[in-house]
Amino acid sequence: MSSDDDDINFLGFPSDPVGTDMVANKKRKLGEDGGKEDESKYKIFSKPGYKRMYPDNCTNGEFPVYVEGLKQDDKIGNKNPLLLSKIFKKVKGIHESRRLKANKIMLVFKQASAANDFLKHSCLEENSMKAYIPASSVEAIGVVRYIPKETSNKDLFHKLTADAEIITVRRFMKKEQDELVPLTTISVTFVGTVLPQYIYLDNWRYKVFKYVPPLMQCYKCLKFNHSAKICRSEQVCSKCNGKHNYKECTSEIVKCSNCQGEHFAISKLCPIKIEKQEIHKNKNNSNKTYASLLVKNNDFPSLPQRSQNVPIVQSNKIKNKPSGQSLPIIVNDSIENIVNNSKLIDAVVKTLIALGNSNQIKTSAHIREELLKNLSSS
Ligand SMILES: [Zn+2]
Ligand SMILES: [Zn+2]
Ligand SMILES: [Zn+2]
Repeated sequence: MSSDDDDINFLGFPSDPVGTDMVANKKRKLGEDGGKEDESKYKIFSKPGYKRMYPDNCTNGEFPVYVEGLKQDDKIGNKNPLLLSKIFKKVKGIHESRRLKANKIMLVFKQASAANDFLKHSCLEENSMKAYIPASSVEAIGVVRYIPKETSNKDLFHKLTADAEIITVRRFMKKEQDELVPLTTISVTFVGTVLPQYIYLDNWRYKVFKYVPPLMQCYKCLKFNHSAKICRSEQVCSKCNGKHNYKECTSEIVKCSNCQGEHFAISKLCPIKIEKQEIHKNKNNSNKTYASLLVKNNDFPSLPQRSQNVPIVQSNKIKNKPSGQSLPIIVNDSIENIVNNSKLIDAVVKTLIALGNSNQIKTSAHIREELLKNLSSS
């Protein structure tokens, strides 16, 4: 898979929280005691020959493609944009280009086929670049519980069925005394940006939950939301807060570098970590779709007479739409609630005015961002 997935995680500490191990599984081999059989049984299984592409029948919308240098430290985002334009001069259908970070830029296409074609354009190889479609534009990851541990990922891949095509099956693993032990929870990657509601194993129906990637903690500086790979801070010991790796620690003191408390900096009990986890969870539940934006209760303190049982938006019926296009279906009896929410309406109006006054072309991601900004400032 591509490197945008790599940002998900943090691993390598004695007390990996449950959940991070799914990705751990992807990156490191099973414990030495896990025999050959287990190793293949719980290896991530993906559809053979799968390549991330936009469905060709999508004609209007926005189709972003990420571009990076082939080498980790190629800083494509710091190159002169005019020079980059020159490189991409022969590429058809680029609608807009954007710098995302030092090592990543994004080209936006208006046609799915143009975006797909670009992935194999000769200019990439000639300039030591790679291009890929961001996972979140074409795939959705769900979590399914109570799946028998004995069944291998490969068998699951072949036996599971859903309303959306299945691309990958992963088993969540838990680390117990240096050994990875399978859990009954799996994650399933589907084609399309909206999760199917259910998945079937034989004819047994299971509910599909949204997968929220674990909070990332840097194992170099022990701060949050970035990986050690890109960390420019000094190494900090997760045990004593000294300037060394925890493996070299000789100190008797246990001191968290984030809150100065008497626990390891990676402890699940760290109040700073708990706080970050909470923010992370909320962010993940709110920034994905317009649908979830409307559903999120605490963003809208003044929703009047809303029945807890009536979901405002049911978006899980829409399938295979690229992100930014999926419009939620609004359940009739909740329209009133939305209309009565002056905060929401004001924010929408403000956003529309700003868009109307702007002569820049905005993508749906832009618009969403703007709306969220206006919502939180209102
Ligand atoms: Zn760091
Ligand atoms: Zn130490
Ligand atoms: Zn702490």
